[in-house]
Amino acid sequence: MRVLVVEDEVGLAQALRRGLVADGFTVDLMHDGVDGLWAATEQPYDAIVLDLMLPSLNGFQVLEALRDREVWTPVLMLTATEGTVTQADAFDIGADDYLTKPFEFVLLVARLRALTRRGTSTRPAVLRAGSLVLDPARRRVMRGDVDISLTPREFAVLEFLLRNCEDVVSKSQIMQNVWDEHFDGDANIVEVYIRYLRKKVDIPFGRHSIQTVRGMGYRISDEVARRPGARSSTGAQG
Ligand code: CA
Repeated sequence: MRVLVVEDEVGLAQALRRGLVADGFTVDLMHDGVDGLWAATEQPYDAIVLDLMLPSLNGFQVLEALRDREVWTPVLMLTATEGTVTQADAFDIGADDYLTKPFEFVLLVARLRALTRRGTSTRPAVLRAGSLVLDPARRRVMRGDVDISLTPREFAVLEFLLRNCEDVVSKSQIMQNVWDEHFDGDANIVEVYIRYLRKKVDIPFGRHSIQTVRGMGYRISDEVARRPGARSSTGAQG
């Protein structure tokens, strides 16, 4: 089994290599993000151990670039601290597993074996509502053949709506899922973002996929597939 370890702490990287080689793995080491990305793109590996904090490109950037290039090698991410958002983020952008430093070496080996048994990482499902498509792995949004450029926050709001496609979600649900849980600003920020999204994904295309459900929240749907005359408030005002 061939494993790429991308870790900038040279002592730790070498200890990992020694241990993994002793356990029968073939190991390549890279010490920064750019070299790691290059190796992971050019060589076939059964798994990649990817440190989060790296020089030149960090682990998230490496992983994002890999998935963007359609490299689906399973990735085990090494994160620095327990209890931060980075673990959720690691899964969100397509890491297959993570370990928090410091970790037991045997645990790393067990996780690696589990990952390689599972095989190539599957690409997360593409989300759609009619001709509107959001690809979480490639961080890409399209209406038909047209690429739409969204800010990270707009992307997150749209992704949340699409994960609940055809269901009504309230402003507070959107707030809780997209904004930091400690965000105590005005809930009207949601309306502002809904307006931004409509200007990008609906209005230029003559669509009304993001609907306001009065007094309840918002719903995204494949409006073409909906029955004509289906009752909902589809006003373009947030
Ligand atoms: Ca590091």
